[in-house]
Amino acid sequence: MSSIYDTIIIGAGIAGASSAYFLKQKGEKVLVLDKQGIATGGSGAAGAFVSPKIGKGGPLQSLTNEAFVFAKNFYLEHFPHCYHQSGVVRIPKDEADAKKFAEYEPHNENSYSRWDAEKLKAHRIKVPFESFFFDEAGACDAPETCTALLEDIDVQICAIEKIFYRDGLWVCIPAQESGNEGSSAYQAKSIVLATGYENALFDMRYMGVKGTWGTRGDFRSQLPMKVSMHQSMSVSANINGIIRLGATHEKGVKEPKPCEEQQALSLKNNASALVDTSDMELVEIFCGMRAGSKDYFPLVGKVIDVATMLERYPAIVRGAKPELKYIYNLYICNGLGGRGFVFGPLMGKMLADLVVDQKEPDPRVNSDRLFLKWCRKSPELDDIR
Ligand SMILES: Cc1cc2nc3c(=O)[nH]c(=O)nc-3n(C[C@H](O)[C@H](O)[C@H](O)COP(=O)(O)OP(=O)(O)OC[C@H]3O[C@@H](n4cnc5c(N)ncnc54)[C@H](O)[C@@H]3O)c2cc1C
Repeated sequence: MSSIYDTIIIGAGIAGASSAYFLKQKGEKVLVLDKQGIATGGSGAAGAFVSPKIGKGGPLQSLTNEAFVFAKNFYLEHFPHCYHQSGVVRIPKDEADAKKFAEYEPHNENSYSRWDAEKLKAHRIKVPFESFFFDEAGACDAPETCTALLEDIDVQICAIEKIFYRDGLWVCIPAQESGNEGSSAYQAKSIVLATGYENALFDMRYMGVKGTWGTRGDFRSQLPMKVSMHQSMSVSANINGIIRLGATHEKGVKEPKPCEEQQALSLKNNASALVDTSDMELVEIFCGMRAGSKDYFPLVGKVIDVATMLERYPAIVRGAKPELKYIYNLYICNGLGGRGFVFGPLMGKMLADLVVDQKEPDPRVNSDRLFLKWCRKSPELDDIR
C-alpha cells in the first residue's frame, strides 16, 4: 500500500518548490513529482535575477514590487546562501528611454539611488545615461534555491500522464503505468499543478498559459563586476569567476529544443555595449520555457470544472455569470513568466493559504479572473457561441 499524502505537487520548478515549502510549513505531508527532477524546466535556465519592476505604475508593477520585497526578505532570512544581493542597476536603452526614466522615478517603490555617468564608469559600465541602482536586488542560484526549498520534502522523478479522483483521493498515474487505472502509486487529498508551460493534465485553456523560449550563458571572466545590471538583457556581478548573461526571448519555439551556442554568444555580443566582454569565455549554456499567463499576472487558485460549467450553463458563452464550480481539491500555481524567482515565494505562500486555510488568493493573481472572459471571447468556443 503506497503512502497517502496531504498534497502532491506536480512540477519541481520554483512554483512547485515554493508551494511545497509553504505547505510543509503548515504541517502538510507533501510529495513533489517531476518528470526530470528539481529545476529542470524553465527554472533551471533562469539567471534568476530578483529585482523590482520599473515603469509608470499600475497593478502589475505594484504586485511585482510587493513580490520582490517578499522574495528578497524570504531568501535573506531563510536561504541567504542562495541569494547574492549584489544590487541591480537599471540602465536606459538610449536617450529616449533615459527621458522615460524621469517619468518612472515617482513610481520606484523600492530602495534605490540614482547613478550618473561617472558612477556607472566607476563600476565599469560603459553607458552614460543616468540609471537607477536598486541596492536590495540580486540574483538567486536557481537550482540551489529550488533544492533548498525542497529540503526534507519527498521529491520523486516521475512523469505523470493522468490524474483522477477516486474514493475520496486524487490518484496520479505515471507515464510508465499508462492505462493502469488500478494503480495506487501516488495518492493525496489535494493536487497542485505547477507544470509550467505544459498543461495537458486538465482543461485549463482559460488560463492561456504559453511558453516563451529563452537562452542564458555563463561566462568565465576576470572582470571585477560587483553589481548586476539590466538594460534589454541582464549581466550579473562576477560570482566566483562567472558572469551570467541572460536572456534571449526566442519567438515561435513551441517545444523544448537543444540549447544553441549561437544564442549564448549573441548575448555576449549585446553585453559588449554595457561592459568589457573581451575576456569572457562561454562555459555553460542553459535554455528553457518561461510560462506566462494571458495577462502577465501569475496564476494561483482552484481549477474550474470547465466541462460542467459549459454543459450546465450554456448561456455562459454569451455573457451569463453563474457561480463557478471547481474541481474538488485541484489547485494551480503557474504563470510566473520571466520573474519566477521574484513571484515564486509569495505565490507559494498564497497557494498554501488557499489549500490549507481556504483563504482566497489576492484577486490580481486568482486564476478565476480569466474564466468568464474566455467563455465570452475565446475562438475555441465559437462553435457553441
Ligand atoms: C532563459 C531564462 C531566463 C530566466 N531568467 C529569469 C530571471 O532572471 N529571474 C526570474 O525571476 N525568472 C527568470 N526566468 C523565469 C523563470 O525561470 C520562470 O518564471 C520559472 O521557470 C517558472 O517556474 P515554474 O515552476 O512555473 O515552471 P518550470 O520551472 O518550467 O517547472 C515546471 C516543471 O514541471 C515539470 N512537469 C511538467 N509536466 C509534468 C508532468 N506531467 N509530470 C511531471 N512533471 C511535469 C517539468 O519537468 C518542470 O520541471 C527565466 C527563464 C528562462 C527560460
